[in-house]
Parts: sequence; structure tokens; C-alpha cells
Amino acid sequence: MPTLFTHPAVPLALRAGLGSDRLPARLLLVAIAGSMLPDVDVVGFRFGVAYGDLLGHRGLSHSLLVAACLAGLAALLAGRLGARRMLAFGVVFLATASHGLLDALTDGGLGVALLSPFDRARYFFPWRPIEVSPIGIAPFFSARSLAVLWSEVVWVWLPCVFAALLLRALIPRAPGRPPAALEST
Ligand SMILES: [Zn+2]
Repeated sequence: MPTLFTHPAVPLALRAGLGSDRLPARLLLVAIAGSMLPDVDVVGFRFGVAYGDLLGHRGLSHSLLVAACLAGLAALLAGRLGARRMLAFGVVFLATASHGLLDALTDGGLGVALLSPFDRARYFFPWRPIEVSPIGIAPFFSARSLAVLWSEVVWVWLPCVFAALLLRALIPRAPGRPPAALEST
């Protein structure tokens, strides 16, 4: 995986690109949680779940199906999140699905079960420029950590900044509320 605090780059870029009117803080928090959630599967190591199992690391929790389910839940709760239903679905789906897709760009571990549970094959992209991050906190503070972080800056954060700028340029700003004086006439 890229490091846990790099996965939120995708929802943060969506927020920067779409603006706080379309993507309010509550939806942003849910999307950030979605971008990190798939790695809860590392808990399975403590309980003897093998890496390659259905519930193993980069297994079902990293699938597009789980991303769609979480996005569906966000769409149902869109009113509470202060967003339009389709937007809540799209943002949470992109944020959560991006986790597995970014993992599939890393140069280590097993591939990602993107189509689980229908197809339990593990997938990688043919081009994998992101250095894989060690699992767990302790090994992360090692000589490799700078190389890992640098590859994430280059291959995740910079493209996300570019995508946010592109969104801002392409999507018109959400119309603001008219001044109170105009509202009352
Ligand atoms: Zn992961």
C-alpha cells in the first residue's frame, strides 16, 4: 500500500477541485474514511488470516464492490452529509476505489482483488511506479521510508494537485446565495 496518510490525497483533491459547496466537510470526512478503510484488513494478520485469503490483505475490502456498497450508503445518507445524492455516491466511490487502484500501482506485496468476491484473482497494473510501504508502524520508520514518501509525492500527491486544478478549471463554481436584499424582492 501507499502509506495510510497518502490515500486521502484523492478525496482532498476532489474537495479542492469541486469546492466546499458541492463537497461539504461531512462528506469529505466520510470520503477520507473510505479512502483509508480498506486497510482494516491488516487486522486479519493477527487472527491468522492469510494474505491471499478472501479476507486477507488487499482482498475483499479492496474490491470495487465494497467501494460501491460504501458509496451507496453515503448516497442514502446524502441529506445528512449535506450533499446531492449522486455526488455523495460518486465522491465516496472514487475515494474508496482509488485505494485499491493505488495499491495496484505499488511494487510489492500481492496484487489487489479488485473484482472480489466474483473473481478472487489479485491484480497489478503493468506499470508500478509507487514504492510499497511496509505494513505496520515500526518498520515504516526505516531507511526506506524517504524513498517511499518521495515516490508517493511524485506519483500520488502531484497528480492529485494537477487533477484538482483541472477540475477547478473545467467545472463552473457552484452558484452562491443571492444577497439578502435581492432574496426579499
Ligand atoms: Zn491497501
